[in-house]
Amino acid sequence: MQQKINEITKKALEEISKTQDKQQLILVNSKYLGKNGELSTLMRGLKDVSSEERPKIGAILNEARDTILNSVKQQEDSIENKILEEQIKNEFVDITTPVKPLKQGTMHPIEIVQRDLINYFIEQGFTVQDGKEIESDYYCFEALNVPKDHPARDAQDTFYFDAERLLRVHTSATQIRTMENNTPPIKMISTGRVYRVDEVDATHSPMFSQFEILVVDKNVTMSDLNGTLEKLAKHLFGEKAKIRLRPSYFPFTEPSVEVDATCTHCGGKGCSVCKQTGFIELLGAGMVHPNVLRNCNINPDEYTGFAAGLGLDRIAMIKYGIDDMRELYDGDINLLKQFK
Ligand SMILES: [Zn+2]
Repeated sequence: MQQKINEITKKALEEISKTQDKQQLILVNSKYLGKNGELSTLMRGLKDVSSEERPKIGAILNEARDTILNSVKQQEDSIENKILEEQIKNEFVDITTPVKPLKQGTMHPIEIVQRDLINYFIEQGFTVQDGKEIESDYYCFEALNVPKDHPARDAQDTFYFDAERLLRVHTSATQIRTMENNTPPIKMISTGRVYRVDEVDATHSPMFSQFEILVVDKNVTMSDLNGTLEKLAKHLFGEKAKIRLRPSYFPFTEPSVEVDATCTHCGGKGCSVCKQTGFIELLGAGMVHPNVLRNCNINPDEYTGFAAGLGLDRIAMIKYGIDDMRELYDGDINLLKQFK
């Protein structure tokens, strides 16, 4: 009996060591230790062994079972390790492989122009003032010398929430808030989206971006306005750029001017972009109306100021030769990715 147990154990250990995967191991385990397994059958036969021999044979059988069980356990560990090693080998990531470059977004042309202008004016000591896109009638119109019955309101009709609150039609409301909260000298810029009731076409959009410039101090004159804008035109369009002032009308400035810059495409000779005039409309400007100063508790006899407002969309279109404003808002990646 003892010899038979030894033979079975030896055979079992040999077979266990040859197994390649868990499935094979389960089969071998059940062949020896399963319900009808070879060792289990011998254990059931223990009852037929003489009572003197039984404890000794029983002990040997238990020992054989433990040996086989241990071997199964060890083989199981070894198979699992092999699987793991295989996985590590197959799923190895070569970190030295060159990767495809990440697709990086580009800045929108309006954003480029906006940031450029902000930096340009900060360098000259201007402060950047944040405005509200939802404004009150007072800051958007009345304080800017545009009373309720003023005809200028028709051209700038906007989106009203109720009798008092509206989407701002210009960034000029920020001028008022800045003058109310600061004493001159004031040198500020403000920029952001503004809204008008406009049909979408090549040169109009119900939403566009403005850039506002305001200077209030003692002895500020038209000459300061002219010099500031001439320098700005050169910054935007190159050293050869010149500006031209034409009389105009805005309720919040007196006198008011339309400012044109030399056409960048033909250098002033005349082309299709400038409609053969040699100039392109750049912005509206003027000396701050005394009523506007008074509305902000600034004495117009002591202080004067100039203000200018330009459309960033327009500047971006001129600068990049875009002739349809809608292209700025279509979100066409092929178009937009050219700008950096
Ligand atoms: Zn031209």
